[in-house]
Amino acid sequence: MPGPAVPVSSASTAPASARTAFDVASPTPSRAPAADLRGPLGRPLGTSAVRLGPGLLADWQGRNREITVPHTVREVGRAGNLENFRRLADDSRAPYAGRYPFLDTDVYKALEGVAYELGREDHSDPAVSSGCLGTTRDFYEAAVDLIARGQRPDGYVGTAFAGEGALREPWSDLAWGHEMYNLGHLVQAAVAASRQLGDQRLLAVARRFADLVVDRYGEDGEPAYCGHPEVEMALVELYRETGEPAYLRQARLFVDRRGSGTLRHSIFPAEYFQDHAPLRELTSVTGHAVRMVYLAAGATDVAVETGDTDLLAHLEHLWDDMVATKSYLTGGLGARHSDEAFGDRYELPSERAYAETCAAIGAMQWGWRLFVATGRADVLDAVERILYNAYAVGLGLEGASFFYDNPLQRRPDHEQRSGAESGGEPLRRAWFGCPCCPPNVVRWMAQLQDHVAVADDTSLTIGILTAGRIDSHALDVDVVTAYPFDGEVEVTVRRAADAPGTLALRVPAWAVGATATLEGAETTEVPGVGPGWLRVTRRWAAGERLRLRLPLRVRRVTSHPHLDATRGAVAVLRGPVVHCLEQQDAPAPVDDLVLVGARERPTSTSDPVTAYAVEGLVEIRPARSAEPYPELDETGAGPSSPVSPVTSVPLVPYYLWGNREPAAMRVWLRQS
Ligand SMILES: [Zn+2]
Repeated sequence: MPGPAVPVSSASTAPASARTAFDVASPTPSRAPAADLRGPLGRPLGTSAVRLGPGLLADWQGRNREITVPHTVREVGRAGNLENFRRLADDSRAPYAGRYPFLDTDVYKALEGVAYELGREDHSDPAVSSGCLGTTRDFYEAAVDLIARGQRPDGYVGTAFAGEGALREPWSDLAWGHEMYNLGHLVQAAVAASRQLGDQRLLAVARRFADLVVDRYGEDGEPAYCGHPEVEMALVELYRETGEPAYLRQARLFVDRRGSGTLRHSIFPAEYFQDHAPLRELTSVTGHAVRMVYLAAGATDVAVETGDTDLLAHLEHLWDDMVATKSYLTGGLGARHSDEAFGDRYELPSERAYAETCAAIGAMQWGWRLFVATGRADVLDAVERILYNAYAVGLGLEGASFFYDNPLQRRPDHEQRSGAESGGEPLRRAWFGCPCCPPNVVRWMAQLQDHVAVADDTSLTIGILTAGRIDSHALDVDVVTAYPFDGEVEVTVRRAADAPGTLALRVPAWAVGATATLEGAETTEVPGVGPGWLRVTRRWAAGERLRLRLPLRVRRVTSHPHLDATRGAVAVLRGPVVHCLEQQDAPAPVDDLVLVGARERPTSTSDPVTAYAVEGLVEIRPARSAEPYPELDETGAGPSSPVSPVTSVPLVPYYLWGNREPAAMRVWLRQS
């Protein structure tokens, strides 16, 4: 953790910690796209400008590179996803492996993450010398070759509906076929390969497939769209990468057409597909949660690129409503296992939360775009909540096991069931028959640095507070922090343009009482630090430092009175991190405990699960009888329970739950 503030004795001297922490080779420069997402604070700084430094996110990224990526490559191989492409490339008569028509996307999402990791390969990275990225590069080369050779002469790519043993004819089932969803992930992998590696092979394949879709479903084509949104944001990115406006027009067509009720669906209702009403008329996020947030992310891209301020304002409304009424405390989305869908407003049961890991990722994709488009700090507050809770919990501590759904409570007698998957393993699993989440975790982890900061010619805005080295036109800085476990964020200028520039840091809404100092030749307090953006504009000099101190109080929260599922319950956070109680740490069944207080834990441990625990103060109050619905007395009081002396328990970060033996867990603890 950073030490106490030290006045800078010389404006030209960078602190030793900053020099040593980031004294590594720069990443391979990624090629600038033809256009980019942009907004009032500028454009996102990509991989060549942001390198994560020592801290939690860098640790996650290292684990991704060394463990999760190789694991995913192995599992994709084992599950037959690559063999499906080989069927087409080699004209084999083998049947399609798998029961879902979107298994190509496991390969594409893995490729997207792999492209980022291979792009970082020239770093002094032990993973390279140990050979794990050698296997990863073999996968990359094999997959690109098979995808390219499996492409049909008309440009179509899709292993489920092409070749001998195809499930159906191409384009025969737009509601469930996922063919344009597949295209979307292909495009995203291809753009990553182009930008991170300068490899255009996959981009050529993706463009031919996209051109086929534009021909078939463009302005003069069939007015149709895919049952699973995803291609919208990919087509906008393809437009940004290539400068070809037809892809942007197509994305807008798909956004505008959706909701006309033309998808021929049988099992799921129109709401599942967001096909019951146009996006611009939705009053709240609805239906299949991943579909909804992918659609909204793509629509935000369309709004930015077409200057559609009405659409952007509507998307802001949908986001705000979602965060206020349909998001779990963890940022998880999707209350219903049935249809993997959003529930009604305030329908947020803890133990039956679906909160699919993919929905967390899609919501971060949407939220990042909305932040860039609007400059709103509070949007990133919500993204950060998702990042450290609903997203992070999806991956096991060891990096090779995954949750599909992410409940906030596990009953002692719970049998884990995960969507269409049933039975089997008690907690996280190595892979799934429907493995959308694991490679999604991989690709997002690999590109965390792309979702940290934005800049324009005169300002650098750091939205996600994390250690790293950030270069921009106006300012190059080093950020040293142990956030989210420590509230001190130290930003040291390495280089400044010869003109006034603005350095901005996000101050989360919960950080009441935050302070900041500017440390140069002398140290001065920065006045007026409050939720939103801390902005300091001046003529900066190398070695000067902005130090932000966020009070990471242990906070207890309750819930909105309409949120019936958690009424009478309390949860604990520290900064953006939600905490929970696991049975291993409790002196009695977790359902018998009443939380009466919470505070910093006086002692720390080296145990990876409990190291950042806070201390909960609990009483043991078992039910007085087994009566399920005891009658109130004439004063309205229920039966009283014997109360034990207060005892303390460690409340561990929620994202780390389930890394010990299977046991009961609660985020929301009883208040009485
Ligand atoms: Zn998923």
